[in-house]
Amino acid sequence: MPHTRYQIIEVAVPLPVDRTFHYSVPEALKSSVLAGVRVLVPFGRRKLTGYVLGSTAATAGELKDIIEVLDAEPLFTTREIALFRWIAGYYLFPLGEVIKTALPSGINIESRRKTVTGADGSWTTEEHLTTGKGIRRERFYQAAAGAADSAGIRGAGARILLYLLENGGTARSKLNELFPNPSAPLKRLEELGLVTIEEREVYRDPFREEAVSSETALSLNDHQAAAFSRIAETVSSGEFSPFLLHGVTGSGKTEVYLHAIAHTLKQGKRALVLTPEIALTPQLVRRFRGRFSEGIAVLHSGLSVGERYDEWRRIRRGEVAIVIGARSAVFAPLDDLGIIVVDEEHESSYKQSEGVSYNARDLALVRGKLEKATVVLGSATPLITTFHAAQEGRIQYLPLPERVQGRSLPETRILDTRQLKGATFSPELVTAITENLAKGGQTLLFLNRRGFATFLQCKDCGHVYRCPNCSVTLTHHRAKQRHFCHYCDYSLLAPSVCPECSGSDIGLFGRGTERLEDEVMELFPGARVARMDSDTTSRRGGHSRILKQLEEGSIDILIGTQMIAKGHDYPGVTLVGIVSADATLNIPDFRSAERTFQLVSQVMGRAGRGESPGKVIIQGIAPDHYALLRAAAHDYQGFYEEELAFREEAGYPPFSYLAMVVISGTAEKPVEKGAQDAARCLREERQGLKMRTEILGPAPAPLAKVRGRFRWQILLKAHNRSELKRLLLAFRKEWTPSRILRTTIDIDPVDTL
Ligand code: ADP
Ligand code: ZN
Repeated sequence: MPHTRYQIIEVAVPLPVDRTFHYSVPEALKSSVLAGVRVLVPFGRRKLTGYVLGSTAATAGELKDIIEVLDAEPLFTTREIALFRWIAGYYLFPLGEVIKTALPSGINIESRRKTVTGADGSWTTEEHLTTGKGIRRERFYQAAAGAADSAGIRGAGARILLYLLENGGTARSKLNELFPNPSAPLKRLEELGLVTIEEREVYRDPFREEAVSSETALSLNDHQAAAFSRIAETVSSGEFSPFLLHGVTGSGKTEVYLHAIAHTLKQGKRALVLTPEIALTPQLVRRFRGRFSEGIAVLHSGLSVGERYDEWRRIRRGEVAIVIGARSAVFAPLDDLGIIVVDEEHESSYKQSEGVSYNARDLALVRGKLEKATVVLGSATPLITTFHAAQEGRIQYLPLPERVQGRSLPETRILDTRQLKGATFSPELVTAITENLAKGGQTLLFLNRRGFATFLQCKDCGHVYRCPNCSVTLTHHRAKQRHFCHYCDYSLLAPSVCPECSGSDIGLFGRGTERLEDEVMELFPGARVARMDSDTTSRRGGHSRILKQLEEGSIDILIGTQMIAKGHDYPGVTLVGIVSADATLNIPDFRSAERTFQLVSQVMGRAGRGESPGKVIIQGIAPDHYALLRAAAHDYQGFYEEELAFREEAGYPPFSYLAMVVISGTAEKPVEKGAQDAARCLREERQGLKMRTEILGPAPAPLAKVRGRFRWQILLKAHNRSELKRLLLAFRKEWTPSRILRTTIDIDPVDTL
């Protein structure tokens, strides 16, 4: 399709600026400039890569010419530009940075490779063609073709080269199929420097290579069918409709997603599925692969930059009907989007913490609105704010109040651990584990701290070992014989004398999963025990291996951190013990009760999903706290009401809109002074604008120092969004901090630590 040639274009650059820039297009480049391509532009004395947003009317003043066009085809569509603009406006972040965040980083590497699996499947060889950063692809093609020609490469060699240039990512086996005896021509191409052959170890995609058995759709029960039919109706109508699918654990939410997506595909539309941490939920991916023969792209953190880029291109080219991925998949370049599913919508991992602090759960709704798609937020424990929106009718409510096939929710007891005097297990929990072992049932034990001991202290002078870079204590990891900071990479060899008093009696206090594992093995010597936390799963495939063992029944007791709370469906688990439920309650954050309720409910939800009923024992030192009582009673509604009353009284969401201004730096005094100046500046702007927005602080952040940076914060609570935004814009204009400080603005912070 011929396009109108652009004279003057609007360009976003990835710099901390609020505005976009205009450039003129020289005659020679007019045929290749389109909205969505990258261009090289002069910027001051530099050259920058910018993103073309579209053409624009002539502006006064002289414009500079763009230097070069970097892409042959657009990387993003005009519809996506609307989403990027929305994000830049909402999160107060430069548009160019937003676009850079949304695009896969592999785009800059511009490499094409083909992969050969080694004989034992453990290594792969890549034949690698690199065009180099910033070199235009066409120019490279020409050069390559020219070199091939002058080197007398014709016939098979030329065809292979052309094929590689056009297709990239081709497996060696495929080349062998396509070309008779490709080895000799490849060797020649390598000698000419047109193809680089490298051998290196490449991560294997744990999902792609797994053989999945195909599954047939289950017939839905009445609640599922009711939810499905309402979703299907709106998918067909092609209007934006947001839903909350509120289903208790084991109520079959995933089955509703699968049916809704099958319906969407039948309508010729595509589906996007967001899930908090894909590596932790191999079952979900397996179910999708088993159910759909259409193209599925899985974007997960285990992909290399190149693999991610390959997946991105498959999606961009329209070869994929379903995309499953974590947070950043909300930017997946799918056209004809019919449905977006946000599984476990309450999870805070949807929030990006570095750079553009977007929340993928919120962006799913924004994208759904822009693309007239149906958005299904699913959870057993929805965010208070989501449930509130459903109560007010802004989101349609779809309840799944019962577990499938009449299975009951687990019977639950809360035990007060104040009488235990530091012992790990109450006698009731020991009895329950013993009985469960005898019955052949599996037990999950949850403790939200990893490591062996959570702090170490000199018994003579009381000195506590802390991280020099972060305001936290060091955690002892026995297997590694060191003390680690869980916020940065600092670690210390186990010291034999106290640095303060030279005493040698250093005690290990507190309990992490590593110590818990020890205690369990001692108490239940015959049991097969495993541990799942980020220490035991840091090796690739670690999660899947442990979950597989659980599934096969070769684990009796699985100990773990919140990783074991995720949406796993293991019918053999009949007992769940929450060793200490209140650790999250003591976190100084307005959402600590909500987090505790969610976490405890999710862990409880792992019990009794199969034919045998489940049992849950919760231990805690605050057994009367409403978050624990309501979770134990499976009473979301009751929790919601109590929590909502607290939010209203304290003026937290949904009764206010929050933003956090954080001032950080490596020297303590200037940070404190900077924070005071920033707060003063905010208050002056507020007065100028005659607003009621509350400004709290400045105060040192609860995590006052992280990775060597001191942090102070100012919390803003506003009655409406537009007020908050106007205030922050005014602040940003006025605020001129010292250059050694960093100012970040977090819109809708998910915690205030
Ligand atoms: P949730 O995501 O709500 O916790 P799942 O979707 O994982 O629940 O479903 C729990 C289990 O119930 C799964 O093993 C699933 O195969 C099964 N299931 C779901 N829907 C049905 C149904 N209509 N009939 C029978 N089994 C079902
Ligand atoms: Zn640290």
